[in-house]
Amino acid sequence: MPNRLVGERAIVVGSGIGGLAAAAALADFFETVTVFDRDDLPDLPQPRSGVPQGRHLHALLAAGLNALDALFPGIGQDVITAGAVPMQAGRDTLYEFPGLQPLPQRDLGWEGLSMSRPVLELAVRRALGRRPNVEIRPRSRVMELIADPTGAGVTGVRLAADGASRSVSADLVVDASGRGALTLAVLRSLGRAVPDETTIGIDMRYATAQFAIPADPPTSWKAVLTVADPRASRRGGVLVPVEGNRWMVVLAGVHGDMPPAELGGFREYAASLPTPTIFEAIRNLELVAPIERHALPTSVRRYFDRLAFYPRGLLTTGDALSVFNPAYGQGMSVRAQEGVLLRRLLNRLSTESADPLAELAPAFFAEAQPLTDTPWWNAAVPDLVHPETTGERPPQFAEMLQYGAALRRLAVEDADVHRLLMEVQHLLKPRNALSEPTLAARVRAAMAAAPLPASR
Ligand SMILES: Cc1cc2nc3c(=O)[nH]c(=O)nc-3n(C[C@H](O)[C@H](O)[C@H](O)COP(=O)(O)OP(=O)(O)OC[C@H]3O[C@@H](n4cnc5c(N)ncnc54)[C@H](O)[C@@H]3O)c2cc1C
Repeated sequence: MPNRLVGERAIVVGSGIGGLAAAAALADFFETVTVFDRDDLPDLPQPRSGVPQGRHLHALLAAGLNALDALFPGIGQDVITAGAVPMQAGRDTLYEFPGLQPLPQRDLGWEGLSMSRPVLELAVRRALGRRPNVEIRPRSRVMELIADPTGAGVTGVRLAADGASRSVSADLVVDASGRGALTLAVLRSLGRAVPDETTIGIDMRYATAQFAIPADPPTSWKAVLTVADPRASRRGGVLVPVEGNRWMVVLAGVHGDMPPAELGGFREYAASLPTPTIFEAIRNLELVAPIERHALPTSVRRYFDRLAFYPRGLLTTGDALSVFNPAYGQGMSVRAQEGVLLRRLLNRLSTESADPLAELAPAFFAEAQPLTDTPWWNAAVPDLVHPETTGERPPQFAEMLQYGAALRRLAVEDADVHRLLMEVQHLLKPRNALSEPTLAARVRAAMAAAPLPASR
């Protein structure tokens, strides 16, 4: 039970990874935490309509696993019991960068876990449900956030459940409903500004297929990542093992290039990737589930930290803060990191602040921005290479690309650079670790020795 109360009741809207992580953080500081979700939430690892992307491959990065483990101790073992596949970072994944040497398969010193989104989400939901002061209420759609009569704060929610509509009050409402529609609606209804946002027009199209792993799978890898060189191709692919002895295979295209939803076309598309590895793996396999497709027009980053007014008693989290290009597998991991951030802030404010509920949201939004920097730029830099991608290129973009290519060449020879590159990709280290002075001097020397052709 909580020992330093910030309030009596907290409500979390949405039981995606963002909502579950936030609820775990709140449970230490509120008498009761109630999570409302519009979905049925059966006690089975199956996709659900409120999270349509859950049918697609959902990679969990190392920092995401660490964050979930901090909030839900033992979660790694829970998902292994449910069939998650342990993966030795660096050694078990074949990273193919067409036009460049593949990264050697070296043991980078940590273990990841590969599983479907429903398996992960169910394990996290069960772990949260074991907290005695947390209640998860399915089939409860929050219709709106309720503002107090002065318009200064949010005091609860109005929800539709069991065929009726009712209001529930709370000291804190966390909007983790996905894209922030409830927050934006309450800000507008109060006549207040909504946050500025940056968008990048990625026009990403996705198809996920599932196959039974054959009796004689390749022995040199468990997973494959074929990263299309954006200057040369619009196509990439990922193959990972998940529970139930299945391979999940994603093929992705951009700017009008859509992978087909039937097996023949899917295989042909796989054959058109810059390397044949994924095609060779699946060429004789049959589907075990229908191919699912998804389109994502833009990556979005919102600046709640710049708002002059934000209601007391409300906190917006999850994909409402940032929607990343899914090809880099970052969304759930950042949502889990935001849960850890929330717990750290509550810990501090509950002892230091005279009014933690007033200070919480500004502090959270301020610290969520630096947390977003690395995943945002990890995706934005390669996405902006496509000339059709809309969005502002950073200054010295061409040099930045040269730097990245030289860094990858160094990583082939040098295990420490390889590890650092992967630590940044897995959000274990910030992106500016890649420009630390000693390393930067080596990278610049490599750039001078072998510049990228300007036309590529
Ligand atoms: C195609 C695709 C592939 C992806 N692949 C990856 C990947 O490989 N790795 C990764 O980490 N991330 C991936 N992501 C991103 C990831 O899915 C999201 O970042 C993550 O789900 C965000 O979690 P969330 O909790 O903010 O929102 P969501 O997971 O969308 O959850 C929102 C929840 O709120 C509920 N809800 C919504 N409105 C209401 C309401 N009014 N009342 C009550 N409940 C409500 C919904 O039912 C849902 O349960 C991918 C996304 C897409 C689209």
